Amino acid sequence: MLKKNNKNTKKPTLHEMLIEAKKCLQCKNPPCIKGCPIEVNIPMFIKYFLESNLQKAIKIIKQKNNFPTISGIVCPQEKQCEKFCILNKKNNNNMSVSIGNLEYYIASSTTIIEPHLIKNNKKNIKIAIIGSGPAGLTCTYDLLKVGYDVTVYESLHSIGGVLRYGIPEFRLPKKILEREINNLKKLGMNIVLNTFIGRTKSLQELFDDGYKSIFIATGAGLPVLPKISGENLNHIYSSNEFLVRINLMHSYKFPNYDTPIYKGKNVVVIGGGNTAIDSSRTILRSGVNNVKLIYRKSENEMSARKEGIFHAKHEGVEFITLTELVKFIGDENGNVKAIECVKNKIIMSINSNEKQFKKIVGSNHIIKTDMVILALGLHPNPTISLLSKKINTDSLGYVIIDDNFMTSISGVFAGGDIVGGSTVIEAMGMAKKAAKAIVKFIC
Ligand code: FAD
Ligand code: SF4
Ligand code: SF4
Repeated sequence: MLKKNNKNTKKPTLHEMLIEAKKCLQCKNPPCIKGCPIEVNIPMFIKYFLESNLQKAIKIIKQKNNFPTISGIVCPQEKQCEKFCILNKKNNNNMSVSIGNLEYYIASSTTIIEPHLIKNNKKNIKIAIIGSGPAGLTCTYDLLKVGYDVTVYESLHSIGGVLRYGIPEFRLPKKILEREINNLKKLGMNIVLNTFIGRTKSLQELFDDGYKSIFIATGAGLPVLPKISGENLNHIYSSNEFLVRINLMHSYKFPNYDTPIYKGKNVVVIGGGNTAIDSSRTILRSGVNNVKLIYRKSENEMSARKEGIFHAKHEGVEFITLTELVKFIGDENGNVKAIECVKNKIIMSINSNEKQFKKIVGSNHIIKTDMVILALGLHPNPTISLLSKKINTDSLGYVIIDDNFMTSISGVFAGGDIVGGSTVIEAMGMAKKAAKAIVKFIC
């Protein structure tokens, strides 16, 4: 398999992509399609690519995927399409076709504006989208295509959601996001920034403004905190706050930009997901040499993308696994100066043959640090009730939807992380289905 690169530093070459495409066996019942959450017709787009028909290839991709430049980069292909590629099984050697790279290559080599969509199909039906992450933008795209008048409300000063403020530039170059956003603007997307729906306007006020339907795509931005001693010491950041300060507020350029950030000398990042990996690689790039990533399970259990783990190690992040945070220790000024941890061991459960992680008694130890970034997971912001008290949520705050992505309020739909998704492509897939349901609801 072509080794993954950070595509901002190097776009795959045509030569490399032809080698990959030629590996494809054009399977009759392609397992790769089943591995793709939105079922892109992979062999078909590869076939057209090999015939040098990029326009047909991109058409096939776009039947299912609005933003292939983005998914081609950020999708966890090693757990999805590429994992299921028959070549993996045949060679038992991680030799799948580089589907993500091909998707990205084709999408970034073709123009994306669809001029025929802009003219003459306006229907004068107003739809409001709350939140401008991948779910909000995907739904916007599909509703613009049918001629609706779509307005995206975003609480921040810039659109893109986690694609903008979470995933760092070195992984998803912002010019790729800008390209997609510019296309949406050309298709007629209206954008209202700095507007937190629920505080600035209620759902009812949106309906009163003439919106026929509303799509909630507010994501999950509430950091999970460990609730342990010392949590409020200075220089302990949630990964969300840290990444927003760097990616959105450009704090690394302080004082040229208003938002400062503390830069420790011995930084500890806690967690095992994409957010933890992105945070550790980001702080490393800000000039900190000593970055430790601490995770309570083993590397196999990390939910982060394998390629991110590979790069983080290669760049110098020290991985300390099977180690669990116990408490923070502060100095006389209220700054964090160390953390106490305990080692964990793996025990195989006899009944279920599942791994369990148990603390090793007496293995408590101290790790010196002057800055901690917590990446322990995210829950929905507890703000849905501000939108309307009538929206049903579960005990964690996720919005409950029916099979048609409709919430407990008629005409109000939801998708993406706010209903329990956890990847970009899941958010996009749900939003596409929700857009279809919205059209059906309106008609
Ligand atoms: P979001 O992207 O969270 O967007 C929600 C938007 O709604 C935000 O812009 C927010 O400001 C806005 N908003 C919230 N409330 C309101 C309101 N009341 N009014 C107006 N606007 C509001 N997934 C992958 O597939 N691959 C990866 O490599 C990957 N890496 C990640 C790295 C990080 C650091 C993080 C945090 C997540 C990562 N994910 C990754 C997960 C992925 O980004 C999310 O699953 C995806 O962004 C969810 O999309 P969404 O549209 O539901 O929400
Ligand atoms: Fe693979 Fe993601 Fe593209 Fe589907 S959308 S084919 S999972 S890269
Ligand atoms: Fe091609 Fe692999 Fe899909 Fe088969 S499973 S069609 S070889 S990409």
